[in-house]
This record gives sequence, C-alpha cells and structure tokens, in this order.
Amino acid sequence: MRRAVCPGSFDPITNGHLDIIVRASRLFDEVVVAVGINKTKATLFTIDERMDFIRQAVRSHPDSPTNVVVDTSHGLLVDFCRVRGVQSIVKGLRAVSDFDYELQMAQMNNSLAGVETLFMSTNPQYAFLSSSLVKEVARYGGDVSGLVPDIVLKGLRDRSAS
Ligand code: ADP
Repeated sequence: MRRAVCPGSFDPITNGHLDIIVRASRLFDEVVVAVGINKTKATLFTIDERMDFIRQAVRSHPDSPTNVVVDTSHGLLVDFCRVRGVQSIVKGLRAVSDFDYELQMAQMNNSLAGVETLFMSTNPQYAFLSSSLVKEVARYGGDVSGLVPDIVLKGLRDRSAS
C-alpha cells in the first residue's frame, strides 16, 4: 500500500492544510495526518480538539476522501513512518522562505531512514495562510471565514467567547 504522512501541529487546521491533505489523498492509497504532540509548545487547542477538527474538515470537504486517517505523533517522524509503514512525507510549500528549513528536514529524514519527502505547491489562494496568523486575526475579532473549515471557525469563536 502506498502510504503518505502529512505532519504538523494543526493548531488549528486551515484551508491551506486541508487543500494539501485532500490533494495528497488523490495520489496515495492512504494519507495519515500526523498531529504532533510537543509538550514544550503551548497550543490553543488540545490534541483531541485538533484531531476532531481535521476529521470533520476532511468529511465536510466536497471530495470527502475516505482514505485519510488522523493519528498523533511524538518523537521522530521517521520512527512514526517505520511503525505505520509510511514511505513518503508530503509537505506543502508556501514560499521560498519555507524551503531552506524544509529541504534540511527532508535531507535529514532521508539520511536517517530513507524516507522520501514530496513537496506540493500551495494553492495560491492559501499561500499567505498559517495557523498562527489565523489565531492572531481571530483573537482580535477579524473575520477568518473562508480561511479555515467551518468547524474551526466555530471553535475559534467559542474560544474567544469564553
Ligand atoms: P508547523 O507547526 O511545523 O508550522 P503546521 O501545522 O503549521 O506546522 O503545518 C504543517 C505543514 O502544513 C507545514 O509544514 C506545511 O507543509 C503545510 N502548510 C501549512 N500551511 C500551509 C498552507 N497555507 N498551504 C500549504 N501548506 C501549508
């Protein structure tokens, strides 16, 4: 089975992430979305909330792919790949500024375990999008509808109302 992983913190998932996940699902038999657990990094949403948002966003997408699974990952991504039988990592590239770091990671992962990284260019509609920017705009009452899945929009509104 050709399996790929889309790793990230997804705090929260944006339409940019979702676009990459759905496009990857057309190229592989299975796509595993690996939500990173990083105890040193403060997140707005819990791991369960982040996973639930991803599952609901994928289900509500017009393609509604059935070959996307969501899992947690901690430690080295190459260990996750070995345990889950994943041969490829799929990453979205927004701008040249993403490239330096992503290239270094891709080469390290290849040298550690022979895992290949494939880069997919972002949908230009979402090239400026990041989870941190979405959170900042939402915190100050800005409108992020159209940039995140509806379930995330609701989550952000609930969070700022509490
Ligand atoms: P990180 O915590 O490493 O910043 P994120 O959870 O924000 O990771 O994103 C995970 C991955 O999703 C990124 O490495 C990138 O490949 C991809 N990504 C994030 N935002 C976008 C976007 N707007 N368009 C395409 N890909 C994106």
